[in-house]
Amino acid sequence: MIETFASVSLPIDEKYKLTKQRIQNGTSKKRICVVTGIHGDELEGQYVAYQLQQKIREVYDQLDGIVDIYPCMNPLGMDSIQRKVPMFDLDMNRIFPGDEDGSMVEYLAYCIIQDIKGADLVIDIHASNAYLVELPQLRINELFKEKLVPMSKWVNANFVWIHSTSTILESTLGYCLNKLNTPTLVLEMGIGSRLTLEYGENSVQGLLNAMHQLGMLKNEYPVMEPIIGYDQEIRFLNAQCAGLFISEMEVNTPVKKGQVIGMIVDPLSGNKLCEVISDWDGLLFTIRKYPICNEGSLIGRILEGKQ
Ligand SMILES: [Zn+2]
Repeated sequence: MIETFASVSLPIDEKYKLTKQRIQNGTSKKRICVVTGIHGDELEGQYVAYQLQQKIREVYDQLDGIVDIYPCMNPLGMDSIQRKVPMFDLDMNRIFPGDEDGSMVEYLAYCIIQDIKGADLVIDIHASNAYLVELPQLRINELFKEKLVPMSKWVNANFVWIHSTSTILESTLGYCLNKLNTPTLVLEMGIGSRLTLEYGENSVQGLLNAMHQLGMLKNEYPVMEPIIGYDQEIRFLNAQCAGLFISEMEVNTPVKKGQVIGMIVDPLSGNKLCEVISDWDGLLFTIRKYPICNEGSLIGRILEGKQ
């Protein structure tokens, strides 16, 4: 059943509405929430929202609990292909937990928290920007790792990045919900403004397994064991010069120290400018797809020592 859980008037005639799909069966009150579209130019979660519903229909008879799917938390941004909330120029993921008496966007953030809090598990799906591809990875604040790392093994992600705390992240949906004792996993995958169907399908499989783990589905859904990594194991590849980056690698590739990741060339002179070389053995989990780069631009990231 499609429900509107927040609605405010726009200046002339229209309404700004936030909607969700609620799928409920059986007597259990267990609840999983799948959230996406906080950033309007990140679309990977859209496919998950669609495909998860297709799969749940096949096993609806055995569902015991509640699945809430929030496909689009920033509808104006998504309609206009913008990360932020247009008009307000606000990153929606920097204003949680919102404010009941605040501005329109703060009020909407407040409504989102009120609607989701108390769930047994929340997955907040993000994509990368338009420049980089990310191997599906959960980002877990070290403050919450005891509770979240066991759950992170349910959802079929390739990699779990446990990161240190930072004050800027305290205004994200994930942080605020975890603070409210609502376990929330933040999933980053793929690339901005595009769909990566394989990643979406893996995530759907993981969500179905999470529902099994919560006792909401009888069927088992096999998932991969994620690699766990910490900040101090993450290495950054940055461009040594400006130019056109030509990648020779995809994410999820083991790399060796000294291995060429790609090269930067000059289309005007026709010369090769430099090679991008790994200084570490590890797993390439981020790679630049947008070829133009400046000196210092992020080319990729490697999880050192793990493959
Ligand atoms: Zn995002």
